[in-house]
Amino acid sequence: MTVPKKNSILVIDSNIFFIGIDLNIFKEIIYTTPKIIEEIEVDKYRNNNRNILNKIQVAIESKKLIIKEPSIKSLQIVEEKSKVTGDFKALSLADKELIALTLELSISQSQDVILYTNDYSMENLCSELNLKFSPLYKKGIQKQIIFEVYCPHCKKIYQTENLYKECEVCGTKLKRRPRKILNI
Ligand SMILES: [Zn+2]
Repeated sequence: MTVPKKNSILVIDSNIFFIGIDLNIFKEIIYTTPKIIEEIEVDKYRNNNRNILNKIQVAIESKKLIIKEPSIKSLQIVEEKSKVTGDFKALSLADKELIALTLELSISQSQDVILYTNDYSMENLCSELNLKFSPLYKKGIQKQIIFEVYCPHCKKIYQTENLYKECEVCGTKLKRRPRKILNI
């Protein structure tokens, strides 16, 4: 876990909230998006999640946690980049919005902005956008991976937007593999 610089801003993904982390361990202001909170609320009748939602509520009231939606413009930048890296299909709208919020805060705020997530595709896209990120309790990626989408049966190569669709030649479900690996 990277120790953030004083006065950093943290952006937190649902997979970090799901750990059940005590938000008070962070000295920094934390941001997330409405969709991330919704993801946790979907399962609110699970005991553990009710606990997590209570912690979130307390953090919102004490102004430690700020819920903010990214602009459409920053979301568009993230969507375009995700097509370049091949992460487009691997990421949900909630994931892309969270990266868009990180991008927006990085531009508008003078502090370091760090996205906390345990999702490799999100980390990969953050590298491409030059955004700082950190995993919790799991080793993050050391390399940035550019993926290509292909048919595992007939080997035809597709645009990355086609991930998980069926091959137009043989009907096999498309997969992705690293095309290029960059050190970061
Ligand atoms: Zn095929």
